[in-house]
Amino acid sequence: MTTVGILGAGQLGRMLALAGYPLGLCFRFLDPAPGAPAGQMAEHIQGDYADTATLERFSAGLDVVTYEFENVPIAAARFLAGRVPVYPPPLALEVAQDRLAEKTFFRSIGAATPPFAPVDSRESLDAAIAQIGLPAVLKTRRLGYDGKGQMVLRAPSDLDAAWAALGATPLILEGFVRFERELSILAARGRGGETAFYPLIENHHRDGILRLSLAPAPGVTSALQAEAEQIAARALTALEYVGVLAIELFEVAGDGSWEVEAGASPQYQPPSPISHLLVNEMAPRVHNSGHWTIEGAETSQFEQHLRAVLGLPLGANTPRGHSAMVNLIGALPDPSAALAIRGAHLHLYGKEPRPARKVGHITVRADAIEELQARLARALDLVR
Ligand code: AMP
Repeated sequence: MTTVGILGAGQLGRMLALAGYPLGLCFRFLDPAPGAPAGQMAEHIQGDYADTATLERFSAGLDVVTYEFENVPIAAARFLAGRVPVYPPPLALEVAQDRLAEKTFFRSIGAATPPFAPVDSRESLDAAIAQIGLPAVLKTRRLGYDGKGQMVLRAPSDLDAAWAALGATPLILEGFVRFERELSILAARGRGGETAFYPLIENHHRDGILRLSLAPAPGVTSALQAEAEQIAARALTALEYVGVLAIELFEVAGDGSWEVEAGASPQYQPPSPISHLLVNEMAPRVHNSGHWTIEGAETSQFEQHLRAVLGLPLGANTPRGHSAMVNLIGALPDPSAALAIRGAHLHLYGKEPRPARKVGHITVRADAIEELQARLARALDLVR
């Protein structure tokens, strides 16, 4: 029996296992949290990622190790890589864990990003503002997610409070981007270097949390899709990546008007002709904006990730009609009401509802876009 070890046992791990069972795979999870969603369906070792004895026990007999959570200590990934193949490579984890390393990496492969500067002291915050201008977003370099650990700075009077709230750890200041919309691209690379790209996805956030994804993103030209694929292809190659990689993007007007108004850095030049898409961040794993692929694509992102890390042929990424994914956040809807919507698929993660917690999602699928809009309106009514 091929056994896949997964670091993290959240809903992404659970959906990886659900995709792997038809392929005859077994799963073992490592996660410090009791009652983690994937533990309800597979072996769950509850322990600390930093504990060598736990890692030994976890890795015994595994065929491959992967992650569903990117804030695993690098030392743990490297320790495991000495025993079992670990994909994506720990380097990808390292780059993704630090927003400064991540943006520097994307610039190095010729992708544009928002203007950014490191902030390590109150003085360097002033210097970064002088360079980048206001408004700007101050973020912790590490361990931020779902909009946590970041503040928008609009006026010089905001600086002291932001520094008091965030200044205890290394930070990055980014120019506040007037984007047209947020997109993401999911790409996969197999062990032999073959690649596959899903169509661009349009994402809507509120309070820093993903609420809704539309796929394929409406109105995407083949040129825009090609730009996104080029960024993803370069990242996959540079990282010698294996698995599914998600890249979050800002679509901006091509004329530079997205740049921060006041004091935009005169030195700042987008480093490449790729100028309609700015990279916000990447996730070296399956991603919330790809949940629609379970019903909405020929091969789901979860199956694709497993195929890639196991050295199996990649599947087709072709979409099946139009999909919309609505996250269930903080509360569960009446399941009967959700299932009464034609083309709706309900996914619950086995988590206790708590404010701001993702407890499930609904994907609605339709062959025609008008049909999708009607079904989506009903799904959105359930989460209001
Ligand atoms: P992040 O944790 O970096 O993905 O940020 C969460 C959300 O904040 C993003 O999805 C955007 O909606 C918004 N955001 C982050 N960075 C910027 C930026 N530099 N300019 C404008 N909005 C941003």
